[in-house]
Amino acid sequence: MTLHEIVAAAAVRYAWMADAACRRYPRQQRQLEGYYTAPPPPEVLALCGRCPVRRECLDYAYEHNIEHGWLGGLAPARREELGDTDTAMAWIAQRRNLPIVD
Ligand code: SF4
Repeated sequence: MTLHEIVAAAAVRYAWMADAACRRYPRQQRQLEGYYTAPPPPEVLALCGRCPVRRECLDYAYEHNIEHGWLGGLAPARREELGDTDTAMAWIAQRRNLPIVD
């Protein structure tokens, strides 16, 4: 595989990030890169509650074993406790899809 093909494949694989509700919010955007460790302000975290790519965001967090950042609107410890995207999405759905601040 050529470098061009690798870059093109990555662009397709992570195309969902362009639809992230937090994409215009630098503090939360950093979650996508796993750098953000402190709880974000509630008004920013609320974005996760209406984000169209919340599932993809959680997939990303689990796939890459990201232990920092509030990806999907869940604290790292909560993501670890829930264990996978399907379980996390079910847990979120039980809470009316609200952002989870804990
Ligand atoms: S779920 Fe939250 S952290 Fe993940 S992409 Fe959407 S707004 Fe950003």
